[in-house]
Amino acid sequence: MAKIVVLPGDGIGPEVVNQALKVLAKIGEKYKFDYNLEFGKIGGSAVDAAGEPFPQETQETVLKSEAVLLGAVGGPKWDNLPREKRPEKGLLELRKTLGLFANLRPVKCWPQLVEQSPFKEEIIKNVDLLMVRELIGGAYFGKKGHKEENDELKAFDTIEYSQQEISRIVQTAFQLAEKRRKHVTSVDKANVLETSRLWRRIVEEEALKYPEVSLNHLYVDNCAMQLCLNPGQFDVIVTENMFGDILSDESSILGASLGMLPSASLGEGPGLYEPAHGSAPDIAGQNKANPLAAILSLAMMMRFSFDRQDIADSVEQAVERVLAAGLRTGDIWSEGTRLVGTEEIGDAVINEMG
Ligand code: NAD
Repeated sequence: MAKIVVLPGDGIGPEVVNQALKVLAKIGEKYKFDYNLEFGKIGGSAVDAAGEPFPQETQETVLKSEAVLLGAVGGPKWDNLPREKRPEKGLLELRKTLGLFANLRPVKCWPQLVEQSPFKEEIIKNVDLLMVRELIGGAYFGKKGHKEENDELKAFDTIEYSQQEISRIVQTAFQLAEKRRKHVTSVDKANVLETSRLWRRIVEEEALKYPEVSLNHLYVDNCAMQLCLNPGQFDVIVTENMFGDILSDESSILGASLGMLPSASLGEGPGLYEPAHGSAPDIAGQNKANPLAAILSLAMMMRFSFDRQDIADSVEQAVERVLAAGLRTGDIWSEGTRLVGTEEIGDAVINEMG
């Protein structure tokens, strides 16, 4: 029996997670997929209930699970809390607790949503890429500090990567590429950074173990440009934490709306699945949120934590059919399509699953 923990979080988190849970119920019924659900608190709602954004109880629950489905955290109510108590801190602690070193963000151009894009159709029509970002190393976790020297304030952040930290994320990228179009683009800044030179050396070594997968290297500045000029060239992009943070937000624009972008974070233990968007306080509680990113995150859970490619495909195809039928939440609405609410589009996905 699959052990799944659900952390709805704040704002639109509970609303979009509810739709994903309706889809999960359908999966259970249609595919005889046995699962057990446990719920936990994270973010602002956990601060309200337990005084901290990632309470001990939630920590213990997720560690016993096989996969975690998360909505979103944060909101104005908690914006003035000290850093340690902020909802977002709960998310960082969750990632650290589960040792989630690989963040996966698939971005594709849904043909039905091309009109929504700020890009021309010929640029984005073939976009189907997977961004693989190292999540728990690099500048965000390296030594940092500040000091005063000659009456002047100085600050520093350091980037460190070990061979093992690079190998495991690079292996993940190659293994994922083997199941896709078999191409990896490794992104670094090897012309100026030592960590990038080590990164490139290890990528070259790992590549030898995957003879069916082709490889190219791009400097991060060039990659940022190529993502706008010719994003259809990419299959799997693998990169370190800070470059990945920036490039994954850039690439998210290729996918029409934040409400369409799922994500998975993987480590040795349970995987974490969550939409890429935040808690959207401006539309929370109004049945306006797009739940498709949360539903597509559930599909990723089926694929990566439970090895059920068949179920993942069927959920993704159902989403495509709903879009083809012209149903849209506000964030992806355009002339000639039908505006529907969170609940209605969730129900439509279930109907399309048959
Ligand atoms: P956001 O992603 O919540 O919202 C940005 C804009 O996109 C808003 O206009 C919102 O209405 C819209 N939007 C987002 N998701 C949508 C959806 N599913 N359907 C329709 N529209 C959607 O980002 P923000 O406004 O910068 O942040 C709001 C709060 O969320 C903050 O507290 C922030 O810290 C938090 N946040 C959390 C996460 C997370 O939980 N992973 C990520 C980003 C931001």
